[in-house]
Amino acid sequence: MNVCVYTLGCRLNQCESEAIADSFSKEGFTVVSEDQGADLYIVNTCTVTSKAEQKARRMIRKFARIAPTLATGCYAQVNEEELKALSDQVIVVPLEKKAHLLQLAKHLKASLVSGMSMKEGCLSFSDGKASVFDYDAASFSYHSRAYLKIQDGCDNSCAYCRVHIARGKAVSLDSSLVIERALALEEAGFQEIMLTGVNLTMYDHQGDGLGGLLEKLLRALSANVRLRLSSMEPDHIDGRLLEALKDPRMQPHFHIPVQSGSDRVLQLVDRHYTISELSSILEQLKQSKDDPFLAADIITGLPGESEEDFQETKQFILSQGFSMLHVFPFSPRPDTPLYHAKHRVPEKIRDERALELRELSKQLHDSYRERQLGKESEVILQNRKGGHWYGLSGNYLEVKVIDAPPFAREGMLVKGRFSDKLPKTGKMEFISYETAIRN
Ligand code: SF4
Repeated sequence: MNVCVYTLGCRLNQCESEAIADSFSKEGFTVVSEDQGADLYIVNTCTVTSKAEQKARRMIRKFARIAPTLATGCYAQVNEEELKALSDQVIVVPLEKKAHLLQLAKHLKASLVSGMSMKEGCLSFSDGKASVFDYDAASFSYHSRAYLKIQDGCDNSCAYCRVHIARGKAVSLDSSLVIERALALEEAGFQEIMLTGVNLTMYDHQGDGLGGLLEKLLRALSANVRLRLSSMEPDHIDGRLLEALKDPRMQPHFHIPVQSGSDRVLQLVDRHYTISELSSILEQLKQSKDDPFLAADIITGLPGESEEDFQETKQFILSQGFSMLHVFPFSPRPDTPLYHAKHRVPEKIRDERALELRELSKQLHDSYRERQLGKESEVILQNRKGGHWYGLSGNYLEVKVIDAPPFAREGMLVKGRFSDKLPKTGKMEFISYETAIRN
């Protein structure tokens, strides 16, 4: 039996999807990609933009023509009826029951043997308890790096955001469980663990924030494992966290949802920091590593964003030396304060601003890659093609690995340096030394 888990949206969704896919593999199902044809589809949806929702509807319609399709995730949570109306093959699983999907494979195995159809098996599936932190797959279907979910929900209420509505209040996984799961991942051979959550810097267990958790984790894990953080909201980055990030096992890659470089706009959309506070945090992040990869999320055309505000944002981006931008043209989300906002920026201007920043992002990325030429780094090996390994460096650059060790394997961490020249096309080259950092 083939099952396809199709994911839209953030790293947290990816992490949860992988755990679900993993639970199916363990029960003997074959996990396939969306173009391979499956007996069951699970679509993990996102509500961040209207585009993400459109894509979810398109894929669900397509999958439902082939087989029963379970829709879960933030979009399914806030628009259950809309998705159910797409086809009678669609079954919506609300967020509070999403973690139940980890037990679905076992249930289906039994129900299929007893003669039920796949859809009947799904409908008859019900389970008493599941927690948002049930995702603890120790082996993953798709990735050479492990994802570990440590936080869910968010107590902020940014005026454009629908995710905090779908996911609810901030909750954190007990730090002893985080350590237990991280050690299990190390035991399973992972050399990089990505910590994920809806608002990671809101992590709080018994007064210990993310900084306190990292201290404990770094004490527990061996020297062979690296930690990477998914995005960090600026308003909870404190001194303890900044200190913990200096540990060489923390990957030199930081992703900050900046959203705007104008204090006026930040205030309009209820973000809880000023540009001067953000600059100080970014400065400390840059000092914690040797030229870390610094990515920023930016939204263009937030209601009320004037030309002057946009220019301030551009100036701010240029002054901070970001390595890459993730640019989102503002899209009004139902149920959010900005859905009916006045002072809308015309779509044409919003899109022109997005285009300009995407161009800027390419230049920033090129100049970051250039600055890394000849520098030492570490790379996680990800896949092998045409006799070469390809991988991801600690500072988030995709590379082609030259001279990988003969005992190389997917997920292995190797040391080396970036070559001295940028290729005209394709990935940067990384010369691996004959030493790998192994368990
Ligand atoms: S910090 Fe703001 S944008 Fe991020 S999840 Fe919370 S409310 Fe949404």
